[in-house]
Order: sequence, then C-alpha cells, then structure tokens
Amino acid sequence: MSAEIISGTQMRKEILAELEREVVEMKEKYGKGPGLVTILVGENPASISYVTLKVKTALNLGFHEIQDNQAEDISEEDLLALIEKYNNDPDIHGILVQLPLPKHINEDAVITAISPDKDVDGFHPVNLGKMVIGGDQVRYLPCTPAGIQEMIVRSGTETSGAEVVVVGRSNIVGKPISVMMGQKGPGANSTVTMVHTRTQDLASHCKRADILIVAAGVPGLVKPEWIKKGATVIDVGVNRVGVNEETGKAILSGDVDYEEARKVAGKITPVPGGVGPMTITMLMKNTVKSAWWHLGNAK
Ligand code: NAD
Repeated sequence: MSAEIISGTQMRKEILAELEREVVEMKEKYGKGPGLVTILVGENPASISYVTLKVKTALNLGFHEIQDNQAEDISEEDLLALIEKYNNDPDIHGILVQLPLPKHINEDAVITAISPDKDVDGFHPVNLGKMVIGGDQVRYLPCTPAGIQEMIVRSGTETSGAEVVVVGRSNIVGKPISVMMGQKGPGANSTVTMVHTRTQDLASHCKRADILIVAAGVPGLVKPEWIKKGATVIDVGVNRVGVNEETGKAILSGDVDYEEARKVAGKITPVPGGVGPMTITMLMKNTVKSAWWHLGNAK
C-alpha cells in the first residue's frame, strides 16, 4: 500500500482561495485590503526569488503591496528608520524583512525593531513568547511551523494524544513546531519529543512517532525502517542534491527517503511540493489576520 500524498501545492490553492474571499469582504467593509511591505537588502539571488514570489502572491490576492529594495550597503541605522516608518504607516499591516541580511547589520536588532503588531513572519520575541504561552495570547505563528500544523490538520491526521517526534531544534522550525503541537487545543494536544544532533538512538525515537516532522537539512537522514506503519510524515528538508542537466535547475530532495517511506507511511509530504508552498501561504494568512485586527481597531 502506498501512502496518501499531502500536497502543499493543492492546499496552497485552497487556502489562497479562502484568503481571496476574505480580502474582498474586507474591502467591502473597510474600503481597503491588507497592506504588506517586503524589504529586500542587497541582491542575494535566493532572496530575490523568495521576495518576487511573495510579492506576486500578495498582488494576486489583491493586497496593497510595496516592494522596498535597499542597497547592500544601507546602514543599520537607516534600515531601522525605514522599519519605523512602516511601523507608523496605517496602510501597512505586515512588515517583512527578507533574511539573511548583510553581515554589518544585526538581524536581531532588525527583527526586534518591527512592531510585534506587524510582525507577520512571527519572529519577534514578543510573538514567540505569546506562542509559548498559547491560547488567546497567540498572535502570529512563525510561517513554516504554521504551515506544517495546517497540513497535519487538513490531511485529517488526529493530533490529540498522538506521539509527535520532531527532528531538529532550529528557532524557525524545530523548536516552534514542538511547542505548538504540545499546546492545549485543536490541531495540537500531542505528546512531543524533539530530537537533535546530540540525541542518542535517533531511530528508536522516530519509530514511536504517529506524526514524524523532519527538519534537519540532511538528505535521506530518515530511513524507511524508522517509520511506524501508517504514520504521517512531514518532510521539511529542502536539500540541493544535484542539477538537472536539461533544465539547469537544482534537483531538490527532502530529509526522508521518500520513495521507500511512501510504502510504510500512512500520509507523507513530497519535496518539492510539500511544506515549501505552505510557508508563503501562511505569510499571506498572517497578513490578512493583521489587517482585520488593525482595521477593526482603527480610530
Ligand atoms: P538548521 O540547520 O537551523 O537546523 C537543523 C536542525 O537539525 C538542528 O537543530 C540539528 O540539531 C538537527 N540535525 C541536523 N542533523 C541532524 C542529525 N544527523 N541528526 C539529528 N538531528 C540533526 O535548519 P532549519 O533552518 O530548521 O532547516 C531544516 C531544513 O528545513 C533545511 O533543509 C531547510 O532548507 C528546510 N526548511 C524548509 C522550509 C520550507 O519552507 N519548506 C523552511 C525552513 C527550512
């Protein structure tokens, strides 16, 4: 038997259609829609392609979108002043500063300078703290973990009481998704184990997982024999493992041996086309959420 494929590409379509309807409703009610600024510093090719995709998605949804490109040598002071300008702009509900930043700029200072009310990436310490407290306190969840949780829920996987094993403890994926799945509430209530490079016997932990979330950045790390029969497997890893000679495009692979894992898992995400498309989708969802909040609270 082959696992059901959890398609991020398909879920993105569904969620963007839901958001599009919300934007129409918002414009009817308030006379304006969500406003997002994307700040790109320098000309890192990967950052350019991420920002281009974010801008395109926002425009397609009918957002008011500003792409604010800055030169590589912008000073930290000037970048912080720019962020402050958008913090005070009533037409902007989400501020996104594309990371990584050039070495002379302190990323933590930039993340902290964004108003927590407009931090649609969910990286501000205030929003991470609220995420840990949980319940009504939660404001913006970081986008990749939010996408992972959305995929688990929309795929119909039971999370309450489930054994969740998360491979990886990064601040942007492993740590937040571990906290989120262990929270009280729908789409969570799981028993969570977070494993990492110092974990002894990784395999034995993975084998217990009803839901296995892998975010290590190591191609083929998780072997098919580590997967419990019928488990839901979310492969977050995006690894460049070669180049397609015909197209010149990178060949991507996840952290799980996908072809073999499919024969054991109940549900599984592919790479590409799995978690990847969900991250930008959740950024859009956070921006719509912020716009509802700001417009509803405008004097
Ligand atoms: P990271 O490098 O910051 O952290 C990797 C984590 O995995 C570390 O905590 C480390 O302890 C753990 N790890 C690494 N090798 C291990 C091993 N052999 N055994 C056990 N644990 C191990 O990575 P990150 O930023 O969380 O990203 C992880 C992967 O997810 C990368 O491939 C990245 O490209 C991908 N990613 C994808 C998206 C997306 O939108 N699809 C978003 C973020 C990250």
